Amino acid sequence: MTALADRLTEYRAGVTAVDVALTRPRDAAAHLVVDGGRAAFVDTGTTHSLPALLHALDARGIGRGDVDWVLTTHVHLDHAGGAGALMRELPNARCAVHPRGARHLVDPSQLIAGSRKVFGEERYDRIYGEIAPIEVSRVRVVEDGTRIRLGGRELELIHTPGHALHHYCIVDAANALIFSGDTFGLSYRDFDVDGRAFIFPTTTPVHFDPAALCASVDRLMSYQPRSIFLTHYAEVTELERLSREMKERVLAFADLGARHRDAPDRADKLRHGMFAMIAGWLDAHGYPRDEGERHRLLDDDVELNCQGIEVWLDRK
Ligand SMILES: [Zn+2]
Repeated sequence: MTALADRLTEYRAGVTAVDVALTRPRDAAAHLVVDGGRAAFVDTGTTHSLPALLHALDARGIGRGDVDWVLTTHVHLDHAGGAGALMRELPNARCAVHPRGARHLVDPSQLIAGSRKVFGEERYDRIYGEIAPIEVSRVRVVEDGTRIRLGGRELELIHTPGHALHHYCIVDAANALIFSGDTFGLSYRDFDVDGRAFIFPTTTPVHFDPAALCASVDRLMSYQPRSIFLTHYAEVTELERLSREMKERVLAFADLGARHRDAPDRADKLRHGMFAMIAGWLDAHGYPRDEGERHRLLDDDVELNCQGIEVWLDRK
């Protein structure tokens, strides 16, 4: 595992990405935002991420009492699984949660059961570990358009369904940046070619909704951001191209699902079809690595995405 000191990447406007390395380096980030000596975390990784998050505070000279907010973009466990454990370390922080997500952080039992089903028992235990509850008095429910203060800056929290119904994004208009959780898809730095980012959607169970997701991408772009910080992984720019590709690829995944909706071996068809689709986009992007490396970097997401598309097909 990478040394804690090597897990921090500093960006503009007081933003630090913390590599929480769920299953490999640079697969998931929590972001630390510092302004005027006050701090917020955007997403938390899992309980296993705690040492890296606390190290980030030390490295930036921020005391645990100086963290005002833990902003969980949604309650999927790679984003909020560590929120309870982190909150125990931060005496003055409030945890901001979407109205549909709040009860799951106060009582995570349903979240744990659902995630064990999606990931399987062995993988769940290895990756996620303990999920600590958060006292209800420390939860701040986030309505669409809620504004909060962090030091000298104002952050607007906006509801962005499509990946999850209980998802919100964080807009820092003064700095022209947005924290998008999973709404603006996945862009692993391993796929960068000559500094150009590669992007594709995440359609994890159980709320994938292609039309809502495209509308949420448009809503993010309506703020004219210069940077979007993704949980998977960190800053992307070139947002006109990436937003266009995101929407095209959301529709391509939905089409793939519709094509195989009644196939007897639907899960297999989807899995192979999606891998081939992403591989084709990687070829067009100029990504040079071989099939083995592509499987290493893509298989977990392809599996989750296909499960999410099946749930969507069955709901439609
Ligand atoms: Zn998610």
